[in-house]
Amino acid sequence: MLSIGIDIGSTQTKGVILRNGKDIVKKSLLKVGTGTSSSKKILDTLLKNTDITLGDIDVIVSTGYGRKTFEQAKMQLSELSAHSLGVCNSIENVGTIIDIGGQDVKIMDISNNKLQNFVMNDKCAAGTGRFLDMMARVFELDVSELEGVAKRSKEVVTISSICTVFAESEVISHLSNGCKIEDICSGLHHSVAKRVASLSGRLEIEDNVVMSGGVAKNGDVVKWLEKELNKKIIVPKDCEFMGSIGAAVYGFSKMR
Ligand code: ADP
Repeated sequence: MLSIGIDIGSTQTKGVILRNGKDIVKKSLLKVGTGTSSSKKILDTLLKNTDITLGDIDVIVSTGYGRKTFEQAKMQLSELSAHSLGVCNSIENVGTIIDIGGQDVKIMDISNNKLQNFVMNDKCAAGTGRFLDMMARVFELDVSELEGVAKRSKEVVTISSICTVFAESEVISHLSNGCKIEDICSGLHHSVAKRVASLSGRLEIEDNVVMSGGVAKNGDVVKWLEKELNKKIIVPKDCEFMGSIGAAVYGFSKMR
């Protein structure tokens, strides 16, 4: 049985084709999110260079911020359910999931592979991918380059502003004062980690912490978050696809 999960996020659109709810046949990522042409393009991109046609697909499930805009989906699934299902399908004995996406942060308490409780910041960009996207623009870098730059840091610069707009001014001021870009960059990652850790204060962080979402690709953010939480963090190989995998797993379980 073939199921497709489509995660139309605030910043990126992700899709996977799963065989029998487990094996990834194909995955695709478009670097644009809800409100763009991505919801029209993602299926074509996903099926391209495969011998699978739309007629071979048993079910399509959408999730993410823009899930309701995806007309071809037979079912929709909330982001919380999709991420917890996707992560628990990929990793055993999950205790806590931290999902940092383009627009929000979610911390989920998991027990027996089920979502028990969660906290979320969707009110402010601090601690989200949007914060890092904006700072990367100041450095004239792609967000994927921030980790490599920060790894050169020897003397981390503390970023004290929580607000993204003020933090941007602070970064510009540090740059004009001659601070090294790598030290500012690592300071920004620390700032994201502190913000996420403060959100987690309302929920106990269990052992077996797993990170999902695009920001988990930044190993320097993961390193700082491990320090702030005093926990080891597992990052699944397909961290940014966890929502789409969860949606496809859900579709498979419903059709079976
Ligand atoms: P959403 O579902 O809200 O679109 P994602 O989970 O796809 O969010 O994460 C998007 C965020 O991930 C971006 O805002 C960006 O900051 C970050 N990101 C994406 N790709 C990378 C990468 N290669 N390295 C580091 N960060 C990344």
